[in-house]
Amino acid sequence: MSVVQYISDRVAVMYSGRVVELAETGPLFARPRHPYTAALLASVPRPDPRSARAARSARMTGEVADPANRPPGCAFHPRCPFATDRCRAEDPMPRAVDGHQVACHHAEDLILEGVPTHA
Ligand code: SF4
Repeated sequence: MSVVQYISDRVAVMYSGRVVELAETGPLFARPRHPYTAALLASVPRPDPRSARAARSARMTGEVADPANRPPGCAFHPRCPFATDRCRAEDPMPRAVDGHQVACHHAEDLILEGVPTHA
């Protein structure tokens, strides 16, 4: 991810075989709208210890969903700290949120940490 921001104008983030977020590089890194994108960004090395601590808290647990045997609802829900009953039952379709295309039921409500951008 730390290299992607230097070589891309737009980024599509995929989870379990589907695009979960698509946006211009700067906005995607600065203000991700999907929890999986935020978790990927949390894996980017950071020199600031406070920022590194926050990033550690955003890291994922659990196993990647098998695309051939996706869980019901949102495929990311077994690993998502924000999952609700709706997430477990209903597969989110991509929609526009602040210029991002994002497949998350709660994209408008979540405050997710990005990283400083150089794009
Ligand atoms: S739809 Fe629910 S489980 Fe899926 S990423 Fe959004 S908050 Fe998490």
